[in-house]
Amino acid sequence: MRYLILSDIHSNWEALQAVLAKAQDQYDQILNCGDLVGYGPDPNAVVEFCRDHSAAVIRGNHDKASIGLENLDWFNPVARTSAIWTNSALTEASKDYLRTLPQGPLPVDGCHIVHGSPVDEDEYLLSASDVETAASDLSTGLAFFGHTHLQAAFLVHRNGVMQLRWPNIELEPDSAYMINPGSVGQPRDGDPRAAYAIYEPEERLVT
Ligand code: ZN
Repeated sequence: MRYLILSDIHSNWEALQAVLAKAQDQYDQILNCGDLVGYGPDPNAVVEFCRDHSAAVIRGNHDKASIGLENLDWFNPVARTSAIWTNSALTEASKDYLRTLPQGPLPVDGCHIVHGSPVDEDEYLLSASDVETAASDLSTGLAFFGHTHLQAAFLVHRNGVMQLRWPNIELEPDSAYMINPGSVGQPRDGDPRAAYAIYEPEERLVT
């Protein structure tokens, strides 16, 4: 089984199509680390695709916000405006689906998917020291996360946490990993390309 790992699509249908075209033939199932909606113009198309074509999906903070499960006072003005607009644009069927999304961490085939961190779905893991605190709770050797919109991989070892270089990570059996595939719909790393990762459990490889 090979997994396409997606996160932070943010209602960007064109970016999702670009990822699916590029990753074609490289995966069997899709895992999604949340923030299907918010910011972009096509929330219903993205929600319907994720509902119909994913093996596992968890909620992100923008998914909660768009269906009224989040206090918008904590959102910056742009995010708040987009949450209000997204709420008005979502169909009842899309809202019903977003309400069913579980909070991470969610276990799937030897890994966990989380939105922010294993201990707090809204926490931003930006650095090795952020991961060091959050990963003490890492109950399997591998977690995929999103929320920061920054592609990143961290090796969690008894000696500390180290940020790894992409693009290929061979998973060592005696170490834990926290990997962010980057954002499909709204990259914040200065690289405008839609980001994703491929996870191959049998090969113990993340690309
Ligand atoms: Zn996001």
